[in-house]
Amino acid sequence: MDFLSTRNKDIKLSGSEAIIRGIAPDGGLFVPETFPSLGDLNDLIKLDYRDLASHILGLYFDDIKDNLGDITKAAYDSKFPEEVVPLKETDAVFLELYHGKTHAFKDMALSILPYLLKASLEANGNDKNVLILVATSGDTGKAALEGFKDVEGVRAMVFYPKGGVSKIQELQMLTQEGDNLDVFAIKGNFDDAQSAVKEAFTNKAYKDQLLDRGYELSSANSINIGRLIPQIIYYVNSYLRLVEAGRLEEGQEVNICVPTGNFGNILAAYYAREMGLPVKKLIVASNDNKVLTDFFQSGTYDSKRDLLLTSSPSMDILISSNLERLLYHISGGDTEKVKAAMKGLDENKSYDWDLFEKDLFEAGFAGEEDITEAIKLAYDKYDYVIDPHTAAAYSVYEAYKERTGDDTPTLIASTASPFKFPGKVLDSLGLDKDPDDFKRLEDLARIMKANLPKSLRELKDKDILHEGVIEPGDMKKEVLETLGDSDV
Ligand SMILES: *Cc1c(COP(=O)(O)O)cnc(C)c1O
Repeated sequence: MDFLSTRNKDIKLSGSEAIIRGIAPDGGLFVPETFPSLGDLNDLIKLDYRDLASHILGLYFDDIKDNLGDITKAAYDSKFPEEVVPLKETDAVFLELYHGKTHAFKDMALSILPYLLKASLEANGNDKNVLILVATSGDTGKAALEGFKDVEGVRAMVFYPKGGVSKIQELQMLTQEGDNLDVFAIKGNFDDAQSAVKEAFTNKAYKDQLLDRGYELSSANSINIGRLIPQIIYYVNSYLRLVEAGRLEEGQEVNICVPTGNFGNILAAYYAREMGLPVKKLIVASNDNKVLTDFFQSGTYDSKRDLLLTSSPSMDILISSNLERLLYHISGGDTEKVKAAMKGLDENKSYDWDLFEKDLFEAGFAGEEDITEAIKLAYDKYDYVIDPHTAAAYSVYEAYKERTGDDTPTLIASTASPFKFPGKVLDSLGLDKDPDDFKRLEDLARIMKANLPKSLRELKDKDILHEGVIEPGDMKKEVLETLGDSDV
């Protein structure tokens, strides 16, 4: 299987090379040349999560196929529960994607990406060190830090928007241990951080400076195809588990509703559908930063607006990078058209797009009040506590169902543990909120009748190990200076 740039089909690399590069040299994103078929779903039912992972990854990354059995076992080991992604059935089925180390769905892909990267380097006889630059809206940062901690030959640096992540998210990152890891706050928002990272990737002179220091640049953001493909697995797996349990008939259609920021998670659901998963509707849920809702409704992508800080910070994004991949696919690989749209976005912060799969995509957004109500609804009706991101999706799903009467069984991606956002959850349930974040966690644990995860309980006693606060424009310089200090 080859991977092409969304902006130029002559740029063509193997899976392992695409993983190492992270982003195409022309600024485009790598996409698979074709969508492989899942084959007969009946044949997949007997596979557990790890074996299914190995099967699906092997369809794409055929040049590291031999390593995948070991890789999936190491990545989805006892860090995760036995079933990896527990399902909670209400009027929809919640896919609890947050049972990894850092309590957000980013763990699903970032637990495996370091292994994929190492195998890719080996397959290409590449002996350079890899520098991973990560822009984060809150969850990717911590998940990448945990994933790459002490991985030999890899150095990772994370940039997050100062004031744009939750208290718990920030503490998780600032207390991170590991000699190969650095964390910086950016005076700006997520889009500023992401733009600065993307710019470094396409800046040849800068990349040469890094090579001089022995580093090849790569990415752990969902622009890296090695992040995207592992996210297909849980949609297929959840479907199979529901068939196995007799909750779905084989071949029965489902809707999938996803709280969306950078469009990676919902795009993985689209990939699953293109591979043969019976999906009727993909429901794109946003928060008050509803650039995607407007886009799917009007055909105009318009990021000329202020970024709002909400209680679902991992969706506080105006430039949704992975949408570029969808545009490539739905235009039948029209790279000129994609390139023109991305140029418009760069120069005028907007573009128009006329091709749509109107029947496939639905989009909606949830404001703060809607999120509050959805958290309360899930708790009152099902004694089930969800985080603000998941609540945005639940709210959009309930509104969709009400509007259309569509009663197709629906999977909702539950993307973070409520423990990452105790303030908003307690507020929504109408409960007193202790000024101390850690007291809030204990209160929440009581309500959820769950144990507070150890890593969060211990957070308050950990030392702050990272203190840099920088301007987005200084990122490149800061990276070089930091590398100058020490080696991998
Ligand atoms: C990253 C994230 C999202 C958005 O996912 P995308 O793949 O960027 O669309 C939603 N919820 C949570 C909790 C996240 O961490």
